[in-house]
Amino acid sequence: MSSVYHDYSSFSNTTTFADAYNNFSTIEGLNPLEKLWGAYYYYIGNDIFATGLLFFCVHEFLYFGRCLPWAIIDRIPYFNKYKIQEAKIPSNKEQWECLKSVLTSHFLVEAFPIWFFHPLCQKIGIQYQVPFPSIWAMALHIAVFFVCEDAWHYWFHRGLHYGAFYKYIHKQHHRYAAPFGLAAEYAHPVEVMLLGTGTVGIPIIWCLITGQLHLFTVCIWIALRLFQAVDAHSGYEFPWSLHHFLPFWAGADHHDEHHHYFIGSYASSFRWWDFVLGTEAGPGKKEKRESKMKIKAESKKSI
Ligand SMILES: [Zn+2]
Ligand SMILES: [Zn+2]
Repeated sequence: MSSVYHDYSSFSNTTTFADAYNNFSTIEGLNPLEKLWGAYYYYIGNDIFATGLLFFCVHEFLYFGRCLPWAIIDRIPYFNKYKIQEAKIPSNKEQWECLKSVLTSHFLVEAFPIWFFHPLCQKIGIQYQVPFPSIWAMALHIAVFFVCEDAWHYWFHRGLHYGAFYKYIHKQHHRYAAPFGLAAEYAHPVEVMLLGTGTVGIPIIWCLITGQLHLFTVCIWIALRLFQAVDAHSGYEFPWSLHHFLPFWAGADHHDEHHHYFIGSYASSFRWWDFVLGTEAGPGKKEKRESKMKIKAESKKSI
């Protein structure tokens, strides 16, 4: 029996998912998403299996679902003008090879630890019961995860560019100098685990410190982080890309430069680490940095 709700005494007999949903509909104050979440756990009846299956499916559907529009856009000539590295549209063979490798990695590397996630949640107190926390609490948690994951990603990604780490681990991700959506998770298993720890480990640390976290928030966070990673690898820069409205947002413009020049622009979601530490990729950014330093040096001389 699931522990997704504390009192099933008013529930009628459940044989189908619809019965489970109807039972949760009798609880006052639950929104449709909470009813679905509750019905899902109640219907499965085994919380470890339900969480494992949910996270595996969310990851697969959202990752490939988000890659699909980019693969279609690649085949529509109208969008070529928005491609950052114009001449480099990935071939069908390249995309197929990438898809096979990503799928293998999902089933061999990521599918296994997912089943330990629910017991871990129970141990450290990540809630999965209905109702969910307020939307503001979830938004705050997700904002903290974005900022912290970006720092984790910056330093570990920068580290992966050193000597043997690059040669034996990170080189695989740099196979495509002009990235495309599917290439977001095309990486060595060690890199998948290391950078994946930033995505999953940060919510765990947050819960250990504050004692406040819901599994649904983790689901939304993972979905948004997946979208961010796929979009950053899309290879397209549009006039309506998010970084035009949020200047500190990284996006494809930032990460494409990393794949193009191999050094610099290490962060995942935001531009601040690369800006402050002078590691933005590309000759344009280098020139800007140098002229800034020159102006600074000259102003010091004149004092
Ligand atoms: Zn890299
Ligand atoms: Zn990349």
